[in-house]
Amino acid sequence: MKLILMGPPGAGKGTQARRIAESYGVPQLSTGDMLRAAVKAGTEVGQKAKAAMESGGLVTDEIVVGIIADRIGEADCGKGFILDGFPRTVAQAKALDAMLAERGLQIDHVIDIAADTEALVARITGRSTCAGCGEGYHAVHKKPAVAGVCDKCGGNLTTRADDNEETVRNRLSVYHQQTAPVMDHYRDGGKFRTVDGMLPMDTVYAQLCAILG
Ligand code: ADP
Ligand code: ZN
Repeated sequence: MKLILMGPPGAGKGTQARRIAESYGVPQLSTGDMLRAAVKAGTEVGQKAKAAMESGGLVTDEIVVGIIADRIGEADCGKGFILDGFPRTVAQAKALDAMLAERGLQIDHVIDIAADTEALVARITGRSTCAGCGEGYHAVHKKPAVAGVCDKCGGNLTTRADDNEETVRNRLSVYHQQTAPVMDHYRDGGKFRTVDGMLPMDTVYAQLCAILG
């Protein structure tokens, strides 16, 4: 199964990708997670990516295409993969087509998780993630029993540096300008579907599973 999950920041790509990865046994390839790890580790890629990420802009196509090209060549991607946050520009989509074609592969499904802009700002500015297990929380919709502590594993909850309102609005505008056109790149192939990301998380997940079979 080779799946691209699309959608604006905060639509729930990451959460759904994690669940699908678990139940279908394929890796989740999140360029955002990989870049954050690179920034934290202080690698060359991380140093180059840091400023763009902090402002809510995009990291260069060259960097993210390089990261994905390396990652899909690893053994665990043999069964397939879920792309979460990539491709984010038409140039990235074309580079992905080329690297898959080289390996005789192609994408099976492209699913857009659609959502309303104002709802996204509210969702993102309230969210936090467990540093231990990755579980997501929200200040209004999904509070942990003890503030700052994960219900599942007792780990510390962390907030992303780019989840403040100003940066979120910039990420949304970058999404509309640069990432929305990527949908047109896939729309004609018969593999493109949309699900309503404003529905409850479990409903969205059920709809994704119905598409994936
Ligand atoms: P979200 O979807 O919530 O905005 P991500 O974790 O997917 O968050 O990405 C965080 C940041 O990482 C983006 O704002 C951008 O700076 C960078 N990034 C992630 N994926 C890409 C990509 N495919 N191309 C360019 N920049 C990216
Ligand atoms: Zn946890």
